[in-house]
Amino acid sequence: MDKDFDYENLVIGAGTGGLSAGCIFKNQKREYVIIDKKEEIGLPVRSTGAVSLEWVNRIGMPTSDEIVASKIYNMSFRTDKGKRIDLNYDRPVGMVYDFTKYEKYLSAKFAGSLDIKMKTAVNEVKGNQISTNEGIITAKNIIMAAGPQSNLGSKLSKSQALVAYEETRSLDERNDFQMILWFSDLAPGGYFWDFADSRNTRKVGVCYYPHSGEAPKSVLKKFTDKYPELSGEVVHTMAHQIPLTGPSDQVVKGNQLWVGDMVNAVLNTTAGGLQGAFWSGKEAALACSADNPGQYQKVWDAQIKPWLLKHNALHRKIHSKGARSVGKYISIAKIMPKSVKLRVFGGL
Ligand SMILES: Cc1cc2nc3c(=O)[nH]c(=O)nc-3n(C[C@H](O)[C@H](O)[C@H](O)COP(=O)(O)OP(=O)(O)OC[C@H]3O[C@@H](n4cnc5c(N)ncnc54)[C@H](O)[C@@H]3O)c2cc1C
Repeated sequence: MDKDFDYENLVIGAGTGGLSAGCIFKNQKREYVIIDKKEEIGLPVRSTGAVSLEWVNRIGMPTSDEIVASKIYNMSFRTDKGKRIDLNYDRPVGMVYDFTKYEKYLSAKFAGSLDIKMKTAVNEVKGNQISTNEGIITAKNIIMAAGPQSNLGSKLSKSQALVAYEETRSLDERNDFQMILWFSDLAPGGYFWDFADSRNTRKVGVCYYPHSGEAPKSVLKKFTDKYPELSGEVVHTMAHQIPLTGPSDQVVKGNQLWVGDMVNAVLNTTAGGLQGAFWSGKEAALACSADNPGQYQKVWDAQIKPWLLKHNALHRKIHSKGARSVGKYISIAKIMPKSVKLRVFGGL
């Protein structure tokens, strides 16, 4: 290791992107530390946790039963104008992580126990120096994995980030669909959702570009009041921001490698960012381990960015005229073969 620095590799953020990077460093036996300002891994909950099984397997995300809240076999895409397409499979095509267990598993079991310093907030990164509330730390490579709303990233405008709000409600498990998405002009650029959680709870939420300024709780209530099947006591709430714009061009800046929500590695069709964060975190750490940070930019340009751009283009088309254009795409998808339909909807 280069003795000029405290660490060879430092990761800022112990979310999916940072933990995925940490797992690679651990596997590759490289010197590293992950730092995060929060108190506990996996809390507060920041994600519904739904992922496509095809992608989970492709990029090597964990699938252990102990972290899976539910598996998705049947999904339904609807508009509040009455258009609808139901997709039913004889095998799971997606799953919903128990988010807290999933992040704890990544931090302690997936690659073994990771080296993480909690309650360490980064104020500034300058060259090889990271200023934190615990003093200055130096590192050769720095993985920037601080998520969508960090003081370290650029601010996104109202048309570049969705507001996302979810209520876990006391509702019986559905016996028809584990995942329902409704597209409505009440949620421009996004959708309302009903996801399986446990036997007696479901996750009901909304994400949208906040043009109207209306509070997400009120937007969700306005919509779900129309559907008595979605009414239930609220047991938990979560709110956050989701970058919903094209992926960044430059992800390597000198010794900094940027991953996850910080570089908009979010599938715009579904607003799912766990896969992009995991994949980019992994590739960034592989590049550092190979002493070649530029290798991450190459993988980003050749594989990750084109994948994200496809979803960005489809999202813009699907939402060009609000719920009406979503309805048009649902009609087109209905006449497609089953395998193509799943891809049309972004593989979750
Ligand atoms: C309501 C909601 C539902 C969602 N549902 C899904 C879903 O079903 N499927 C899906 O794939 N995606 C979903 N997403 C998106 C997904 O959660 C994110 O894309 C993903 O968590 C991003 O991972 P990340 O590692 O980039 O950032 P994060 O998970 O946000 O992690 C960043 C970490 O950095 C830390 N940090 C920030 N600033 C500092 C600092 N200055 N110093 C030290 N630490 C810092 C934070 O404490 C945090 O732990 C959802 C998002 C929301 C808001």
